[in-house]
Amino acid sequence: MAAMTTRRILTGDRTTGPLHIGHYAGSLQNRVALQRDYETYVLLADVQALTDNAANPEKVRANVLEVALDYLAVGIDPRVATIVIQSLVPEIAELTVYYLNLVTVARLGRNPTVKEEIRQKGLEGHLPAGFFVYPVSQAADITAFGAHLVPVGADQLPMIEQTVEIVRSFNRTYSPVLVEPEALIPRAARLPGTDGQGKMGKSLGNAIYLSDPAEVVRRKVMGMYTDPDHLRASDPGRVEGNPVFSYLDAFDPDREGLAALKEHYRRGGLGDVTVKRRLAGVLEDLLGPIRARRAEFATDPHEGMAMLRAGTERGRALAPRTLDDVRRAM
Ligand code: ATP
Ligand code: MG
Repeated sequence: MAAMTTRRILTGDRTTGPLHIGHYAGSLQNRVALQRDYETYVLLADVQALTDNAANPEKVRANVLEVALDYLAVGIDPRVATIVIQSLVPEIAELTVYYLNLVTVARLGRNPTVKEEIRQKGLEGHLPAGFFVYPVSQAADITAFGAHLVPVGADQLPMIEQTVEIVRSFNRTYSPVLVEPEALIPRAARLPGTDGQGKMGKSLGNAIYLSDPAEVVRRKVMGMYTDPDHLRASDPGRVEGNPVFSYLDAFDPDREGLAALKEHYRRGGLGDVTVKRRLAGVLEDLLGPIRARRAEFATDPHEGMAMLRAGTERGRALAPRTLDDVRRAM
């Protein structure tokens, strides 16, 4: 009975760079909050990272530990959550091959997040096939662990939809062995970049990293894009679409103070510098303790790697069971 009622979480991050405040708002916060209520698996997606970094495996490898340090720094507890290195779970690749037969090229081409990423990353004309089909490999990640819940940022919603379609198609075509997952998207679902672009991304050069030193955070905040029509402090300003306010919405605990600030900005008479100073303070309150914990863990990278190996050993036990179910069903 216990095994039947265990609810599982799977999430993860591509190991393409250190994590940023968008990850914190979009997914890390939820993972930390839920890690004791669900059996939680967190995937260091180094195989997926290669889909647009094939020429750069060293970067992908080096960031396995960097991302793991970010996990520990924000409070993912390796005694309750299991952190798994994707490349050490080869069953995921085999599941991907079977699922690819259940998805059409046309359907893959309609995935709005992949379309946007192809544009953002400038992959038009030389798009790696592996990148184009990565939503299918994500379906393999999620189902390999039999996850019920997937806490992710809003950009990942189309991936979960596609996973559900694959699960339904598989269960209908063969027999019902795969778990249908559900996405968990937070309120501040998608943090824009410091440049005002749609999404903060670790490969996009517009991120504030959890590991940035205090002066760097301050410099990035002071250089942020705001309302381009707000030229003088006395001018009325726009709050919507202004990333400084998006960040305050996501992280400022003083909701009343923030509401008054927005009102003043809209009315005019409030300079960008004042608002940015407030944001710099709010972010420092958030990031100061995270940075300190990260520095502590970073003093012993060997222990960090040992922890990752142990987690992977434990976590990868689930994947062969799923693969076995899948092969039998087929
Ligand atoms: P890359 O640029 O290499 O794709 P990324 O910053 O998009 O990196 P991912 O590893 O692709 O990060 O995403 C990991 C998780 O973080 C996903 O759940 C994703 O939805 C979430 N996430 C990423 N960027 C943001 C953002 N700007 N706002 C909210 N959530 C985000
Ligand atoms: Mg991404």
